[in-house]
Amino acid sequence: MRSTHVNILGAGQCGTLLATMLARKAMTVSLFERNTDPRGEFAAAGRSINLALSSRGINGLRQAGVLERVGPLLVPMRGRLVHEIDGSTEFLPYGQRDEEQIYSASRGELNKLLLDAADDLDNVEIHFGHALTGYDRAARHARVLDIEADNDYEIEASPIIAADGAGSVMRNALHESGIVGANEILLAHGYKELVIPSGPDGAFQLEPHALHIWPRGEFMLIALPNPGGDFTLTLFMPNEGKVSFASLTTEQAATEFMDKYFADVAPLITDPARSLVENPLGLLGTVRCQHWHDRGDVLLLGDAAHAIVPFHGQGMNLAFEDCVVLDRILDGSDAGWDEVFRQYEDEQHKNANAIADMALENYVEMRDTVRDPKFALRKELSFELERRLPDRFIPRYSMVMFHAEIPYSVAQQRGAVQETLLEEFTNDAETLAQVDIDAAAAAATRQLEPVATI
Ligand SMILES: Cc1cc2nc3c(=O)[nH]c(=O)nc-3n(C[C@H](O)[C@H](O)[C@H](O)COP(=O)(O)OP(=O)(O)OC[C@H]3O[C@@H](n4cnc5c(N)ncnc54)[C@H](O)[C@@H]3O)c2cc1C
Repeated sequence: MRSTHVNILGAGQCGTLLATMLARKAMTVSLFERNTDPRGEFAAAGRSINLALSSRGINGLRQAGVLERVGPLLVPMRGRLVHEIDGSTEFLPYGQRDEEQIYSASRGELNKLLLDAADDLDNVEIHFGHALTGYDRAARHARVLDIEADNDYEIEASPIIAADGAGSVMRNALHESGIVGANEILLAHGYKELVIPSGPDGAFQLEPHALHIWPRGEFMLIALPNPGGDFTLTLFMPNEGKVSFASLTTEQAATEFMDKYFADVAPLITDPARSLVENPLGLLGTVRCQHWHDRGDVLLLGDAAHAIVPFHGQGMNLAFEDCVVLDRILDGSDAGWDEVFRQYEDEQHKNANAIADMALENYVEMRDTVRDPKFALRKELSFELERRLPDRFIPRYSMVMFHAEIPYSVAQQRGAVQETLLEEFTNDAETLAQVDIDAAAAAATRQLEPVATI
């Protein structure tokens, strides 16, 4: 019999959603969070960014019974609005069906709502201000520090699910014991956040139903809408080099940079130069582990297991998918935790690796390729092939964002076949009229099995 009490470390998005899912199947959950309660008076200031939510995340919220409560936090985004350096714009839809849109959500508000949902359940107890400090593998217990009381105590690994984020203390402890084989690669690019406030009467100052991108080759600015009419902007660029965060240390340099590359949007931003100089620089990286669990004692989940760069907007969506997969395996068998964790890793490991790769590739697409006229042509052709062969040809972006039933690893494999095909048939064409669409469709039919047979 597997135990029906679970200790979860980290009340971020992943730990909190999992707590709700497990409690709904009559398990008892103790949730330990290093920070103070973000809903309280002494809330710690966290990352303010908003996040793009798509089908895998929506699935997780639905499965935990909280999707309806999340609705008011969401602003739909139907495509990318690309802002060229000369001020011209082009809208590139994400998909071709009405429901093919993604949603902007405030990280802070979403976390609070997920905490409320977990707190509503009698069988979840949440301990804020309690931090994991270490793990004793031989004794099968973790050490937790009650920060305010300065009191150290033990919790049993029977089991512990560690959702303690990208800098996971548990992952480091398991790595040092030779269990998980973690590998962390920092990107040479980082990010800073800026804000466009709402206009008079809470009006949006840019088109609200789009993810705005200012692609500039080696760097880019993006903007996501918030329900209150403001936008959160994120500048991604190299940390070092001629045009880099290291070169923007004075307000004069930052003003010149904004005027040169983002003249159309700079006047809308609150204190752009000062914000660029003073706001903290966020680091980005990819964490891959060979394994995610230690026997039936400990499992790493969410960013703790597989932090990825944010360029496909999938880190949280993947973390929510982790919860869905684990929940399904628990429903489908009475096996012990060891076997449950093994099955979970077997299924989800290749998917996390696939989206980690695709997220890195998407950075180049967003900051650079999106400006290439061939990119728009290939997108047009991919939509046309999807119309003709809806069960075979689904653009890779759509598979990742709108088709939670297609595993990331399958999206990656099919996406590679499709990309070769798109390149081949658009090589000598400048418009869709010049493409031999019948031949492209015939090639797609030969090379791609129907999705339903996967
Ligand atoms: C700039 C940026 C933009 C992003 N945009 C998107 C997006 O658009 N869409 C998307 O899907 N994803 C996005 N992500 C990724 C997303 O933020 C993460 O994948 C997601 O938050 C992971 O959730 P988590 O619960 O695993 O980790 P976290 O949200 O980091 O939660 C971990 C929790 O554990 C707690 N904790 C840490 N250490 C300890 C300890 N020792 N003891 C106890 N508690 C501890 C932390 O306080 C925190 O509450 C973005 C990330 C960044 C950096």
